[in-house]
Amino acid sequence: MIEISEILRGHREFFATATTRDLDWRRQQLRALKAVIKAKEAKIMAALHADLGKGDFEAYTSEIGFLYEEISHAIRELDEWAAPRHVPTPIFLAPARSYVRPEPLGVVLVMAPWNYPFQLALAPLVAAIAAGNCVVVKPSEISAKTADVVAEVIREAFTPSFVSVVLGGVEASTELLKQRFDHIFFTGGAAVGRVVLRAAAEHLTPVTLELGGKSPCVVDATTDLKVAARRIVWGKFFNAGQTCVAPDYLLVEARAAEALVRHMRAAVRDFFGEDPSASPDYGRIINDRHFARLEGFLDNTKILHGGERKRDSLYFAPTLIDAPDNKSPAMLEEIFGPILPIKTWTHAAEAKAEIESRSRPLAFYCFTRDDDMRDFFMEGISFGGGCINNTLVHLANPHLPFGGVGESGMGRYHGRDGFMAFSHQKSIVDSALRPDIPLKYPPYKGRLKWIRAFVR
Ligand code: NAD
Repeated sequence: MIEISEILRGHREFFATATTRDLDWRRQQLRALKAVIKAKEAKIMAALHADLGKGDFEAYTSEIGFLYEEISHAIRELDEWAAPRHVPTPIFLAPARSYVRPEPLGVVLVMAPWNYPFQLALAPLVAAIAAGNCVVVKPSEISAKTADVVAEVIREAFTPSFVSVVLGGVEASTELLKQRFDHIFFTGGAAVGRVVLRAAAEHLTPVTLELGGKSPCVVDATTDLKVAARRIVWGKFFNAGQTCVAPDYLLVEARAAEALVRHMRAAVRDFFGEDPSASPDYGRIINDRHFARLEGFLDNTKILHGGERKRDSLYFAPTLIDAPDNKSPAMLEEIFGPILPIKTWTHAAEAKAEIESRSRPLAFYCFTRDDDMRDFFMEGISFGGGCINNTLVHLANPHLPFGGVGESGMGRYHGRDGFMAFSHQKSIVDSALRPDIPLKYPPYKGRLKWIRAFVR
């Protein structure tokens, strides 16, 4: 196997040629990526099915089609993103003009998780290419079939000194993290996020951390409970609940709880039939370890719906439970699977306090028709991003930055924000040579009163 330090050397040399500075060249690379993905759609879908039992609809919308959108958006907007941005110049610096010129950071590392293993490896790559960087991509070893296809796509689309891929687990990641990168873009859990941040500190490398956590969903009695139920069930059981922004627990106004649960049961049946294990649209748990972890959440809980599972095929039914007490693992840890604990409240302040007793979530969802209630939660709670009367869809808008806050992450991407995450904003004052106003030069005697006239 080629040494990681050798790969980095190749990238540094290629970056130094300034090839990536050219915007047309970057667009060509993005087009090449899209063409290779198009040619391999069936193979990508087969890998996603093998790793996660992902049906074609989910695979296309949340992984492949999502990338097409990001690529097309970047190609369309690149000139504008990369253009120098002129800013005003204060009078005491006149005559001059000032501007900000984005420049690529250099050689960057993208580390991806296993839950959307294609999209989460390649969407940061799209942003990094748009911004003109050389990139090392490290897919998750846990979604091994998709990791192989990611590697194949990258090797076909790019010259290896521009974009490379490193496969492997902790050992490969550890080796990578010893290197000096110009940026590390990590998507995964908070525990490994800390490992990444510590390693980055060694080289003063800036990082983006796209982490997870417990994302709450609040429902009050004023909303359309049937629509709310359908949208929550859709968002929760998409990818069998293995979504970083899936509703992790539900806080429903007590007087609406019974009806909401009834509508949710009906929605599960509508979407996946009487036996979801037979539905081509319902995914599987990634592996045995995560299956066992999810089973643990059901200990000593009251199951309201679902709960069936088949370990040999990693099938875990869409499951609704009565929320156990706050010291139980289901209310302490990110669930990251198809189990939704449901808790009731009488006053909105109780729901807010419940959310604020945990670290700031990656996503927050609020279903209500009441404007005061909406403002109470949307303004009162800190969270990465979210929706009013919907789930998940905020991340499909490339005009919205996507990222966490506090324990759910640092930095953001998608669309222009992705370009910015992988760019340095170089600030420049361009002064006229004449007149050469002497006010700023020593000897300063008698000059301060003039400066005071401008700077007050
Ligand atoms: P993870 O943190 O276990 O792994 C992520 C990456 O880190 C993988 O490439 C893995 O190989 C590598 N890694 C694992 N252990 C390591 C170690 N000790 N040292 C160095 N590298 C190591 O995450 P995961 O289990 O793949 O994904 C689940 C988590 O990711 C959940 O918490 C979820 O919420 C979060 N997530 C966040 C987003 C987001 O966009 N914010 C998206 C998807 C998943």
